[in-house]
Amino acid sequence: MDKEQIDEALELIWLLNEEGHHSLNRFRLSSEDDDVENLIVTLKTEGLTVISEDKIQFTDKGYSLAKALVRRLRLAERLFTDVFEMPGDTVITDACKMEHILSEELTDSVCTFLGHPPTCPHDKPIPRGECCKKYRVEVEPVVTRLSEFEVGSKGRITFIVPAKSSRLSKLNSLGITAGSIIRLLQRTPSYVLQIDETTIAIDPEIAKEIYVRKLI
Ligand SMILES: [Zn+2]
Ligand SMILES: [Zn+2]
Repeated sequence: MDKEQIDEALELIWLLNEEGHHSLNRFRLSSEDDDVENLIVTLKTEGLTVISEDKIQFTDKGYSLAKALVRRLRLAERLFTDVFEMPGDTVITDACKMEHILSEELTDSVCTFLGHPPTCPHDKPIPRGECCKKYRVEVEPVVTRLSEFEVGSKGRITFIVPAKSSRLSKLNSLGITAGSIIRLLQRTPSYVLQIDETTIAIDPEIAKEIYVRKLI
């Protein structure tokens, strides 16, 4: 029994589980393996599944292996459709090869590159990885008040919450508007921003009302 056969079996069990099927017989019927009985025995002796009555279930080891596999497969699918713009049906076969090529480390890079997509092109959930957890933690502090911004930093204005509504149109007329890219040049005595070729000075009080997402 080679690794590829085992991988395919793990993937199939994952898929069946997603559809609410846990039956051994269902697995037997869905598998395209030539020697499915031998496969079932191997899965068990390798400590990947447990069988009770008509149920085939993952052990912890089997579960984490299957999860990593499915994650790689679905990220590979996303990569092919979103980045290489390949049509849907060719994606599956190529992604199948890809999942065995992508290393765990590379998988997280691909996930990050794609912006931690939640689903594959077929709308099936992509199991989350370590990179997705980190991303969620980091995403909050990325947007800060301009008053907390470091001198020299570049950012995009995400939103403005003015204390006085009249202030918004004044800021907008200066080019300080959501979406503008700014660089903070100085903080005291007033905040000096650069937008395109223009430099604009604003009061510290107003700098608190402008929220900026840092750009690298
Ligand atoms: Zn898919
Ligand atoms: Zn991720």
